[in-house]
Amino acid sequence: MLLFFALGLLIHFVFFASIFDIYFTSPLVHGMTPQFTPLPPPAKRLVLFVADGLRADTLYELDEDGNSRAPFIRNVIMHEGSWGVSHTRVPTESRPGHVALIAGFYEDVSAVAKGWKENPVEFDSLFNESKYTWSWGSPDILPMFAKGASGDHVYTYSYDAQREDFGAHDATKLDTWVFDKVKDFFDAARNNQSLFTKVNEEKVVFFLHLLGIDTNGHAHRPSSREYKDNIKKVDDGVKEIVSIFKHFYGDDGKTAFIFTSDHGMTDWGSHGAGHPSETLTPFVTWGAGIKFPQNVSAQQYDDEFLKEWRLENWKRRDVNQADIAPLMASLIGVPFPLNSVGILPVGYLNNTGLFKAESMFTNAVQILEQFKVKMTQKKEATLPFLFTPFKLLSDSQQLDILRKARSYIKQEKFDEVVSLCEELIDLALRGLSYYHTYDRLFLGINVAVGFVGWMSYTSLLIIKSHSNIPKGTRKEGKKPHCLLLYSFIATGVLVACFLMIQACPWTYYVYCLLPVPIWYAVLREHEVIQDLVESLLTFPRSHFVAYLLVFTLGIEVLVLSFFYRYMLTAGLIVFAGWPFLTQLWTRAKITFLSWAFFSLLLAVFPLMPVVGRKPNLSLVMGAGFLVLLLSLAVVTTLGKRNIKLVKGELLVLLLQMLSTVLSMYVVYSTHHSLLKKEGLPLMNQIVSWATLASSLVAPLLSSTALSQRLASILLSLMSTYLLLSTGYEALFPLVLSCLMFVWIQVEQETLQQPGVSCKQKLTSIQFTCDTDIAQFRQLCPDDIRRAFFLFFCPRRNY
Ligand SMILES: [Zn+2]
Ligand SMILES: [Zn+2]
Repeated sequence: MLLFFALGLLIHFVFFASIFDIYFTSPLVHGMTPQFTPLPPPAKRLVLFVADGLRADTLYELDEDGNSRAPFIRNVIMHEGSWGVSHTRVPTESRPGHVALIAGFYEDVSAVAKGWKENPVEFDSLFNESKYTWSWGSPDILPMFAKGASGDHVYTYSYDAQREDFGAHDATKLDTWVFDKVKDFFDAARNNQSLFTKVNEEKVVFFLHLLGIDTNGHAHRPSSREYKDNIKKVDDGVKEIVSIFKHFYGDDGKTAFIFTSDHGMTDWGSHGAGHPSETLTPFVTWGAGIKFPQNVSAQQYDDEFLKEWRLENWKRRDVNQADIAPLMASLIGVPFPLNSVGILPVGYLNNTGLFKAESMFTNAVQILEQFKVKMTQKKEATLPFLFTPFKLLSDSQQLDILRKARSYIKQEKFDEVVSLCEELIDLALRGLSYYHTYDRLFLGINVAVGFVGWMSYTSLLIIKSHSNIPKGTRKEGKKPHCLLLYSFIATGVLVACFLMIQACPWTYYVYCLLPVPIWYAVLREHEVIQDLVESLLTFPRSHFVAYLLVFTLGIEVLVLSFFYRYMLTAGLIVFAGWPFLTQLWTRAKITFLSWAFFSLLLAVFPLMPVVGRKPNLSLVMGAGFLVLLLSLAVVTTLGKRNIKLVKGELLVLLLQMLSTVLSMYVVYSTHHSLLKKEGLPLMNQIVSWATLASSLVAPLLSSTALSQRLASILLSLMSTYLLLSTGYEALFPLVLSCLMFVWIQVEQETLQQPGVSCKQKLTSIQFTCDTDIAQFRQLCPDDIRRAFFLFFCPRRNY
């Protein structure tokens, strides 16, 4: 049995790891040739401001008095440059956001887990392609671009990590630190000859990472004074830095400025997911090579933002976050970052048609390079007769499009070149994703086969040990299944050879070979399978089909509920009606009515909003009081029934009630101390950890009688859960537990055992090891229904 559990754990670990290995893999390839536009660039230097965690709407909208929070940036939008919304992708975290901005590609999700500051994969970036880059800001962000850069030309200046203390201190200091250091830097450059020559070179980048807004957003939420005042501070700082640049370079008109953010922030101060408040970030750019504001009467965006922001008349151009990298590269004339999948937003360029066309052509060739490398890699690792190339972009098609674009450039049909290149980029990106996910179906099928095998094996084991199948009537002494064993070994060897020829990574062997022993174990039990099928065939055909239909439907609902939470509500409503359909309820009206009541109550939860709500302390307190009432009721009913509670057990119960009260107090006082911005009291921390630790042990000390043990488990569960709750969810485990408790009664009713009163039977259940679970019994459809209820009730995704 122990071996079985160990095996099960191992197999599930492999299945779990396979998710990351199959779906979250790095999209990067290496070995491309750098591509750049062979025309003089408009700018000699680029200044990139990233206001970490700044939402597009908070920057663009006007405050209550109709004034802008960022008057300098708004002035740029109206009189100097171009603007739009930059659309980021999930995960909306700092690292992937900066990688998209500066390297032009979207990191796979696992990169976040692999190492935040470190650079788990080598990638090319704008900084790496630049002649020199100077960067100021957070020690979490800067090193990852300096580390990847070849040579010694990316300089970082960051404060030490301790300064980034959330909460109490003034987070705008993180931003003023950066602005001050930039000022010092240019003061130093005036007096230092070698630095002076360096900053006067072409193709240089200055990167200012401003973490204050993000820190204030986390600590005080984006609607707070702190967050909004921080925007004003950043705006002032940007204004000052721009004037320093003008001064230092003698207003030579060769500096391009970009102001954006890595991700937004939700109303409740978090980011990482895909809510518009997280994915919509501002993008404002001005200076050398950038289009001046365009007054328009109508715009192509049908969201309400333009009206809300009172910017209807200034042309808005949205970009995807990765498009900013090629834009920056073309502004200062460096090769596009090799791994970039960004598409140059030509609308932002204030340049000749030839420059736009050539830049777009470079962009297309650069993305096509990645496609070619990826295809070659896949082709080399696949048997020739199994290789299916990406049909929409064959070698000859690539050549055709490139030749056509070249001839258009000669004929000065620049607009045609741009649209032709966009078409080519689209195809190349689709091809890139085709080859990136090439093995996904194959591996997915293997993992699914393994998983189905494991489920069948465990079901067979359970059926074998807990039911009257297999019937003992079969002849004993059959030959051991040598043939079966040999054929499975042969299959394994064949699979291994197949993988070896294709030079697959070792994980592929695990996924492909795992199903072989599992299915061998399943088929070894063929007698059980035979008997199972036979006993299923004795069932009336129409019943069988009806059951099958109902359960398929039920499982579909379960699957759909992963995408639409309200499907859970639908399922629970059906549960509530179930006793009335089967006429069971006439037997024990109160039990079945309470079953329906709690099912309906539970059905309310999936309809509640998941995120974006304000904390509701009274609900948490209410849940605490209900739990206390419930446990009091348990104690008094036990007293009434003259069931002796051993002193120790009563003490445990009382202590648990006390810990619930303490939890309620901690929630209450923490909430108020946070409102007063006093941080988390030490006492509350100690009590919380103590509650967590004791809740694991306390139920084990309680009485082993069914209802007392269940009440004790509920109590310790609730005291921990209350600590984690901020609103209605505190009531959830309470309702769920009530439903589960009623369910036990309901199942007793359905068992319908004559002679034994249900109550008697229930109270006799003990949480000890001597319960005879291995009773042989008939398989019946109710078993499946029970299993289904068990899965359905607790499933509720956050
Ligand atoms: Zn960030
Ligand atoms: Zn953040």
